Amino acid sequence: MSTILIANRGEIAVRIIRACAEHGHRSVAVYADQDADALHVRLADEAFALPGSTAADTYLSIDAILAAAKSAGADAVHPGYGFLSENADFAAAVEAAGLTWIGPSAETITALGDKVTARQLAQKVGAPLAPGIDRPLENADEVESFAAEAGLPIIIKAAHGGGGRGMKIVHELSEVAGAFDSATREATEAFGRSECFVEKYLERPRHIEVQIVGDGQGRVVAVGDRDCSAQRRNQKLIEEAPAPGLSEEQRERLHRSAEAICAEVNYRGAGTVEFLLAADGTMTFLEVNTRLQVEHPVTEVTSGVDLVAEQFRIAFGQGLSLEATPEPRGHAIELRINAEDPGRGFLPTPGRIDVLDAPGGPGVRWDSGVRAGDTVQPAFDSLFAKLIVHGPDRDAAIARTITAAKELNVEGVATVLPCSLAILGDEAFTGLGTEGVAGIHTQWIESELLPRLDAQDRPVPAGEAEMQRMTIEIDGKLTTIGLPAGLLAALGSAGGSGQGNAGQDGDGSSAGNGGAASASAGDVSAPVPGSLVDFLVEDGAQVAAGDEVAVLSAMKMETRVEAPAAGTFRQVAAIGDAVNVGETIARVE
Ligand code: ADP
Repeated sequence: MSTILIANRGEIAVRIIRACAEHGHRSVAVYADQDADALHVRLADEAFALPGSTAADTYLSIDAILAAAKSAGADAVHPGYGFLSENADFAAAVEAAGLTWIGPSAETITALGDKVTARQLAQKVGAPLAPGIDRPLENADEVESFAAEAGLPIIIKAAHGGGGRGMKIVHELSEVAGAFDSATREATEAFGRSECFVEKYLERPRHIEVQIVGDGQGRVVAVGDRDCSAQRRNQKLIEEAPAPGLSEEQRERLHRSAEAICAEVNYRGAGTVEFLLAADGTMTFLEVNTRLQVEHPVTEVTSGVDLVAEQFRIAFGQGLSLEATPEPRGHAIELRINAEDPGRGFLPTPGRIDVLDAPGGPGVRWDSGVRAGDTVQPAFDSLFAKLIVHGPDRDAAIARTITAAKELNVEGVATVLPCSLAILGDEAFTGLGTEGVAGIHTQWIESELLPRLDAQDRPVPAGEAEMQRMTIEIDGKLTTIGLPAGLLAALGSAGGSGQGNAGQDGDGSSAGNGGAASASAGDVSAPVPGSLVDFLVEDGAQVAAGDEVAVLSAMKMETRVEAPAAGTFRQVAAIGDAVNVGETIARVE
């Protein structure tokens, strides 16, 4: 039995804590101030505070996590995904402290975590690759020369990026300088490193990836493949396994390339090798993620391999449990449940989850980081749960997923669910991989689905309405009523809602909404709580209604704010300010 500290939060921490319990390990959670009452904290055997409320002070603080590991007497550290999971310094520090690191070696993370060196490695083993500049860019001029040579479009990407951030597609030469600045800034803010590189941008590709496990001695086995083409902002929304419609030849090429890349560095642990597949059959290597992926469960339920248990086996020296790629059983689909409003460009909508009814039934797995009454925290990712559904074949899995998604009821925050349901019902998705069907691709949601979704009801964004809903009986009939949270608070009844995150609620909006209520038509208010990254218009300049005037960073994504009216632009907030939803950041006079 080992004591494993989980250096993460949310659904993935819960997933790993469950695996610890199942395999006889003691689990230790860590938590930021606002997560003191979170589900992962409640489920772990023990929990230690990471004082602070920003990612940097808590789940990204190597010192704070190692101090917690020491206090807990931990033997091992599991990093989950995101945060420090692909940080080689953290892996090295964990091992230097005498603890087992549940993941690949620091050297492997450095070599593969850097997309530039990973591309070089892919080239060496003969994996499929699109043209690109395989070194960090120094300035926008280099990008312009590459574009002139390779042709547009191109994509500028953070060498140390992840989660679709720090990535800019360029269609016109005139956009290069702005895209380069923006990619560099996002890269610095999100990953603490500014290096970017450029490669040819493939139009309308599918995203296919291969799950691998390696024993650290050179043996690497592909566990299965996934299709993650349903994306918004280059971030996955729906994933499935196995990838539909691949020929045996394509599947072999992808699996063997993934194994070869990882074998080259004696990969230890679970990892994912990502590729793009263009409509004409062209394949290109994208990157290796040296950690567990968000979408690992679809491979688990189709391969029968518990990937977290496999990570434990490998880390504790018991080797791989599988000899060769297993034949997939049936088909699985995962819906990410993010607190975002698809009707408003996937704007993050952090807030309190008033109602959460999870679905059930055959083949349904619900991996959640929250329960009803918990808060989706604005300081962290908008993903708060995942719905994974398994069926005997793809059609059955889709039908089951639709049933389960309709059963899922979330109130209090907007979610991506209406968009996911629209995707599941669209023949571009249902026919994916079938000959003669123009299936979905990585830009399909934004370019084709969203414009059609406009007429749909839009979920109410949490910060905007802040409604408190309750079900009451009137004349023997059950009725749901919603009252503004502010009104209930004024009546002295909202404060005692029983959840421990009162401080967070304060953060969420009352001050901001108060400001918004008295706002005038020319006020430019923050649509999300976040930090003001930049003004795109000088103080005193003339703007038209709908002009983009400011950039906010919320939940690690950039959101552009538009002018509500035409007139003279006046900056109110200062760049770098933390702003609440509804807070006035500028004015149009
Ligand atoms: P991240 O590490 O942020 O996930 P990736 O390099 O894996 O970044 O890319 C994420 C997504 O961005 C891909 O799934 C794809 O949709 C898009 N993308 C990245 N590179 C390209 C490219 N060269 N051509 C077309 N799309 C790309």
